[in-house]
Amino acid sequence: MQIRSVCVLCGSNEGADTVYRDSAVRLGRLIVDNGMRLVYGGGSVGLMGAVATGVMDAGGEVVGVIPEFLIRAEVGNPNVSELIVTESMHDRKRRMFEMSDAFVVLPGGLGTLDETFEIITWKQLRLHLSPIIVIDVAGYWAPLSVLLDSTVRAGFADPSVLDLLQVVASPEDAVSLLAVTGRTERTCVSDQL
Ligand code: AMP
Repeated sequence: MQIRSVCVLCGSNEGADTVYRDSAVRLGRLIVDNGMRLVYGGGSVGLMGAVATGVMDAGGEVVGVIPEFLIRAEVGNPNVSELIVTESMHDRKRRMFEMSDAFVVLPGGLGTLDETFEIITWKQLRLHLSPIIVIDVAGYWAPLSVLLDSTVRAGFADPSVLDLLQVVASPEDAVSLLAVTGRTERTCVSDQL
């Protein structure tokens, strides 16, 4: 089955190089070109705002999910197709998870790391089998691969964890991979999260 709804995890900052923002806008446009909608954290700032802009400028559908206490800090995006306001960070992550068939990770900071590891570890627990694609823009995520290799080499993770995610070089590669991967059925109910 085709992937219809993709969740993008990324920074609330733009990063120190314009290559990050360019990739986020491009990913947004490609999501629309490939008939998918965007689910994301609902903010207007940083790469989050850039990917939403890419989708909206191409005439696509955007669902933002933001906790009430962050609406001011992350500038809740009034232009999205739908803005869902949650009571907590946990509700935000749960709603984003429930609405998405796949997860794509762009560069980001600690919040992005938290969300990315949560979605990876939920897959390790087989709570879902959805694709997780990390876009290694300008080598940003190389240390993540090193860290994951290290967990396996030191005996803290099974080698199969390396198959929980796929690392690609560009938004184009991410979208091509989504096209061939397809959608998997959810394996858990939300209250197991
Ligand atoms: P950052 O990568 O730190 O710029 O954050 C990216 C997104 O992750 C922002 O929307 C943050 O609100 C969100 N975030 C930050 N901390 C957490 C957390 N502990 N759990 C879930 N999301 C978070």
